[in-house]
Amino acid sequence: LPSSRIAVVTGGNKGIGLEVCRQLAHNGITVILTARDDKRGAAAVEKLRDLGLCDVIFHQLEVTDTLSVTGLADFVKTRFGRLDILVNNAAVSGLEYAQDHVGVSEEKLSDMDMNQRIGLVLRCCRETCDGGKECLRTNYYGTKQVIEALLPLLQSSDDGRIVNVSSEYGQLRHFGNEQLKQELSDVENLTEQRLDEVLGLLATFEKDMEAGPALLEARGWPMGLSAYKVSKAALNAYSRVLARRHPDLRVKCVHPGYVSTDMNLRSGFLTPEEGASRVVAVARGAAAPRRTDRRALCRAPGGAV
Ligand code: NDP
Repeated sequence: LPSSRIAVVTGGNKGIGLEVCRQLAHNGITVILTARDDKRGAAAVEKLRDLGLCDVIFHQLEVTDTLSVTGLADFVKTRFGRLDILVNNAAVSGLEYAQDHVGVSEEKLSDMDMNQRIGLVLRCCRETCDGGKECLRTNYYGTKQVIEALLPLLQSSDDGRIVNVSSEYGQLRHFGNEQLKQELSDVENLTEQRLDEVLGLLATFEKDMEAGPALLEARGWPMGLSAYKVSKAALNAYSRVLARRHPDLRVKCVHPGYVSTDMNLRSGFLTPEEGASRVVAVARGAAAPRRTDRRALCRAPGGAV
C-alpha cells in the first residue's frame, strides 16, 4: 500500500478536473483519475505520465450509473483499503450547444466583461428541459451517489476530506423562492430528512421546467442556467448536512472562479491551472489535527464552507 495520500477525482479527463489531478499528483498524492469514457480517461492519464507523474491510475466512473459507482468503490477498497481525498468535480451545465456553434475567438472575448461573456455563451446555447434534468441527475444526485459509496473508505482514513466543486451560481441569492431559500440556508436545523423533504421540491422544479420559463420565474426559481444553479445550491446544502453528520470528515465546497473550459465555450477569465489551484488548496488544506481532536473541533457549527 502506498504511504502517500490517495485521492479520487471525478471528471478528471479534461478542464479543471484534469488540472486538479495534475496538481495533486505533483504534490505527491496518488491520484485515481476517473472519467466516464475509457478512452478519454486513459488518454488523460497518459498525458500526466508524459509529464513524469506516474502515481496516476485510471478508473472508469459515470457518476449517474450505480454499477459504475460501486465498481469504483470496490476497486479503491481492494487496492488501497481507504480513501483520503474525494474531489467531486464532474458536472454538466444543462445547456445544449447550438449545432452551428463555431467557437468563441480569443479576439472577440478580449474586450468583453464577464456579463458580456456569459451573455455570449448563453446565445450560443439553449436551456432545454432534458438538459436541465440531466444537470440535476449529474451534478446533485450523481455526486451524492459517489459520496455515499465512498464514505466508508473516507472514514477509514485518519484525515478524510470531501471537496465538492460547486459554483458561485449555487448561492441562494439567485433564488426568488423564499421558502426554499430559507430552508436551505437554515444551517443549524437542516437535517438529511429535512433536506430530502425540501428536495422533493426538485421534482417540482422539474415539472416547472417542463411548463416553461414563465412558470419557473413565477415560482421564484433562479433564471438563466436554472437547473445548474439549483443543482449547485442543492449540493451546497447536502454538503452542510454531510459535515454535520460526519464530524470526523472535512467537507468543503469550492467555487473555482470563472475558468476557461469546454463547459463555458472557453469564455472564462482564469486558466484551468488557476481554477484547479483553488480546489487543490482546499483538498490539501492545512495539516489536520489528530482525528480525535478534529472531531471535537468540527462539532462547532459551520463545518462546511
Ligand atoms: P468541463 O466541461 O471541462 O469538464 C466536466 C467534466 O465532467 C468532464 O470530464 C466530463 O466528462 C465530466 N462529466 C460530466 N458528466 C459526467 C458524468 N455523468 N459522469 C462522469 N463524469 C462526467 O467543465 P469544467 O472543468 O469547467 O468544470 C469542472 C467543475 O467546475 C464542474 O463541477 C463545474 O460545475 C465547476 N465550475 C466550473 C466553472 C467554470 O467557469 N468553468 C465555474 C464554476 C464551477 P466528459 O469529457 O466525458 O464529458
